Amino acid sequence: MAVKYSVIAPIFNEFESLPELHRRVTAVMDGLDGTWELVLVDDGSSDGSTERIRELARKDKHVRPVIFARNFGHQIAITAGWDYARGDAVIIIDADLQDPPELIPEMVARWKEGNEVVYAVRAEREGESWFKKTTAALFYRIIYRITDVKIPVDTGDFRLMDRKVVDVLKTMRERHRFPRGMSAWVGFRQVGVPYKRAARHAGETKYPFKKMLKLALNAITGFSYFPLQLATYVGFASAGLAIVAIPVVAILRMTGSQFFFGQATTLIAVLFLGGVQLISLGVLGEYIGRLYDEAKGRPLYIVREAPEK
Ligand code: UDP
Ligand code: MG
Repeated sequence: MAVKYSVIAPIFNEFESLPELHRRVTAVMDGLDGTWELVLVDDGSSDGSTERIRELARKDKHVRPVIFARNFGHQIAITAGWDYARGDAVIIIDADLQDPPELIPEMVARWKEGNEVVYAVRAEREGESWFKKTTAALFYRIIYRITDVKIPVDTGDFRLMDRKVVDVLKTMRERHRFPRGMSAWVGFRQVGVPYKRAARHAGETKYPFKKMLKLALNAITGFSYFPLQLATYVGFASAGLAIVAIPVVAILRMTGSQFFFGQATTLIAVLFLGGVQLISLGVLGEYIGRLYDEAKGRPLYIVREAPEK
């Protein structure tokens, strides 16, 4: 069956939001000009969402359930969505209705104008903590500065992509992934549409600080060597300092000054360099661990139940 639009929603314990998600997506998609499907990727839910997804799929042929064997994480769930989506245009949306499905027609309109990636830009966010908003804002700006790809700031995964783009993304099987970065990296014609990010429909965020940190590390290591180069920069800076300091200290000593002597100076220098070296080792470790994971080449996810691709 030819499908024109695929909507992908990753689901991790979204029992309460699911019926409303289905209702609002259906209302929007039925108003468009083509066949559509809703790919619900169950990322190892344990709150009954899985059964709810199966039930929706039984009642509504638009729903395609992909059910993971365990929790693999939001980014991997999106990837599975790409793998199973059949549409000419593929839309990723959060299941908690923070991304309003009502924006989809506008995205589709921009797609029809010839844009291959239409990403939604969060012009406003409501119902989120001060901490979340600040860390998110900081995160997007740091990523923008240190990575080689210009990932638009304040964009999430909410976006529409053309089949051409999805086919390219499907060939990128990296394990530690940052989908919105990948979709910027591929190029093509990209355009943003602003929207107001709503509060969660129900339940709690599934992104505790630890997961946010992991995502940030994936984004940085996946798109930048900057942390690795940092060791070189700090190394040059401290070596430069030493080259200047050696004659200064020698002259001070010859002139009999006591200015630079004592335990504290030595201790501080040792602690500083020791710290820098350990941090650099840690940074190396992050990259090596990721290399090791890639080398193992395990499947990105394991499905318990899924439709034919
Ligand atoms: N999600 C997922 N796997 C996870 C965590 C989250 O599939 O391990 C889904 C979640 O169900 C939601 C989307 O990813 O549809 C975004 O998560 P959430 O709304 O909790 O993140 P936030 O909006 O707070 O950043
Ligand atoms: Mg959310």
